[in-house]
Amino acid sequence: GTLAMTTGPNLPTPLPTKLRELSCADDYDPNSMPVERARTIIRQFLTPITATERVHIRAALGRTLATDIVSPIDVPGHDNSAMDGWAVRFADLARGAETTLTRIGESFAGKPFAGSIGAGETVRIYTGGVVPPGADSVVMQERATATATGVRIEAGALSKAGQNRRFAGEDLKAGETVFRAGQALYPAEIGMLASLGINEISVYRRLRVAFFSTGDELVAIGTPLAAGQIYDSNRYTIHGMLTRLGFDAVDMGVVRDVPEDLEQAFKAAAASADVVITSGGVSVGEADFVKVLLDKLGEVVFWKIAMKPGRPLAYGRVGGAHFFGLPGNPVSVMVTFYQFVREALLHLAGRRDIEPLPMLRATLSAPIRKVPGRTEFQRAILTRDADGGASVRTTGDQGSGILSSMSRANCFVVLGADVGNVDAGASVEVQLLDGLN
Ligand code: AMP
Ligand code: MG
Repeated sequence: GTLAMTTGPNLPTPLPTKLRELSCADDYDPNSMPVERARTIIRQFLTPITATERVHIRAALGRTLATDIVSPIDVPGHDNSAMDGWAVRFADLARGAETTLTRIGESFAGKPFAGSIGAGETVRIYTGGVVPPGADSVVMQERATATATGVRIEAGALSKAGQNRRFAGEDLKAGETVFRAGQALYPAEIGMLASLGINEISVYRRLRVAFFSTGDELVAIGTPLAAGQIYDSNRYTIHGMLTRLGFDAVDMGVVRDVPEDLEQAFKAAAASADVVITSGGVSVGEADFVKVLLDKLGEVVFWKIAMKPGRPLAYGRVGGAHFFGLPGNPVSVMVTFYQFVREALLHLAGRRDIEPLPMLRATLSAPIRKVPGRTEFQRAILTRDADGGASVRTTGDQGSGILSSMSRANCFVVLGADVGNVDAGASVEVQLLDGLN
């Protein structure tokens, strides 16, 4: 198929058109596609967003910086006290004996002492107060006793000059590159921007992702079920996963398995979004007419991924939009989203240094039966065991239609394609779903 539609309005550059050349690669077998290979192929075809917009930092949570941020100032701007106490010259303190100093003023946070400290003098200072010129250290108030004219400092209250003093620029230095373009903004980053006095920043515009469900058996919630019908749940999990990642989720409803309806839906979705995600209709038997249609509208490959759940997956582009055709089973939708789509969408949204979900290791508390040949993503519950280590057990029935297994799980146990049965007590790889599922 040739590119029948023009590039979508949101994608400034045409997508690479080499997808069809894949079949020439030696290790390309669409019917047995390793998980890692699929990830690598998808990554090759992703063109990140370049359009930007300016937002207030309060509206920047989860957004992606479009420019580097260079610190305009030192943070903190002055040497200041890390605690309530007395600003002193270290050299004034007697070795192994008390020292009495004369109080000449006070330094509050936001209200510095106007003068400087000479020999034998001290300034009462509070946390965040500017350390006056002449002083080099702060004695904490618990190591000193105020007198009528000053303070008596305990022997050994300081062991070296500079103690209890925060240095100008110790957090961020003027001229330093604080963040790089492509950095995601979370609470710490937003607070750091505020500490630099920056109120508006440039971020990539939000990725627009249109999605619809396919299937004659599907009924939208709010309508009674007839015999053999089921409620469309995939649109709601997809909406949730997209929204949580900060994308603009465009719900295109349920579409019947009718070629004309599907063509209309694909065209409308591709014209209005950067990415189109569908669920259902990519398994054997259903894929045939969808394939013909998508070959007409763009360029799509149908894979059988060597994984469980989530075997069928379609990937490519429809018009100017990237396309992910997820399987219909509710668990497969979530697993394929987290294993392939999440990473790809973050990349498209302008994020750099994206990793797949982080892996950690845990001890399996009950055996898992498995046939080698496919990577399995078993829904599981990770807990701390008595000695502080991590134990993991599956949620039970791993059927790809059992969505409650995703709800009860807090992680996937990832068993590689080469692995067979796994015994209790074995160390296994785990991907945490915290904050994602
Ligand atoms: P399919 O991939 O279209 O053959 O669908 C596989 C299974 O997932 C079938 O049992 C479908 O009924 C079910 N399914 C497909 N789409 C949805 C959906 N949107 N919500 C819930 N279940 C679905
Ligand atoms: Mg279907």
